[in-house]
Amino acid sequence: NERFIVNGSHDVNKLQDLLDGFIRKFVLCPECDNPETNLTVSAKNQTISQSCKACGFHGLLKVNHKVNTYIVKNPPSFNPAAQGSSLTEGKRSKRVQKQKNENSDGSMSNNSMANNSGGESDGGNGTNHASQTEAEISAAIPEKSITEDDDDGGWSVDVSKEAIRARLQDLTDGAKGMTISDDYDKTEKERIDIFYELVKNKRDNKQLDDVPTHKELLIEAERLDIVNKAPLVLAELLFTENIIHDVRKNRILLLRFTHNNPKGQRYLIGGIEQTVELHANTLMSKVAGIFKIFYDLDIL
Ligand SMILES: [Zn+2]
Repeated sequence: NERFIVNGSHDVNKLQDLLDGFIRKFVLCPECDNPETNLTVSAKNQTISQSCKACGFHGLLKVNHKVNTYIVKNPPSFNPAAQGSSLTEGKRSKRVQKQKNENSDGSMSNNSMANNSGGESDGGNGTNHASQTEAEISAAIPEKSITEDDDDGGWSVDVSKEAIRARLQDLTDGAKGMTISDDYDKTEKERIDIFYELVKNKRDNKQLDDVPTHKELLIEAERLDIVNKAPLVLAELLFTENIIHDVRKNRILLLRFTHNNPKGQRYLIGGIEQTVELHANTLMSKVAGIFKIFYDLDIL
């Protein structure tokens, strides 16, 4: 018996999409698409500015993202990309030779993957947040790293496709580590699963007719931030071949999630559709009637 598809098999892709979006917004240079950027956090001005080592772009980060606020309030003090730091290291000498003369400013860089062999440059980053928030902090997603080996006159970026891909992989791995380390950031799928188990438990214990249970379920859905999608879970657990009976029986509970909530209604419609599909033989011919009942009961 397969679960209704909420994110289902797209989970991994979705995470990848999120990470790609994140990298595009916070890491890649808006001018030249290189990941060789520094982010500078100004706690005072509540801004994050980005500068590009490859093309010299400099500007404020345009995105208005929750993460911005988070970064401003919590300047990075660890290096999530460190775990992948050796990936591109081998290419460095080649790069230095090739581009020795192109760049000699030796400024701060977040090209830690190429220059940080694993923690040596972390020394300056471990200070606590409180002492950092005053000053302008050179920070980066994933992390800054002070270049200490400029004795050869500096280095520049390896902009080969392969090197960029490797660095993006580093960033992705690092960001994944950040994501799963935080319980608050459970994936939506995980949060929906939690809700699913709760509803299933209530159903199996025949508690779904109790108003206190309805309240409890709504509160839990709100806590999990999945109120809109909750009707999909309810549909999956409550609707059977006998959906017309089911909807009458569970009207009050459904209303808790769909009343004045168009998004919730849309997900309920999705749940109805999947129920019909599941029992196509008996329900397909009754679709119109089924929807009419939902409308008549003011659930939709
Ligand atoms: Zn650039």
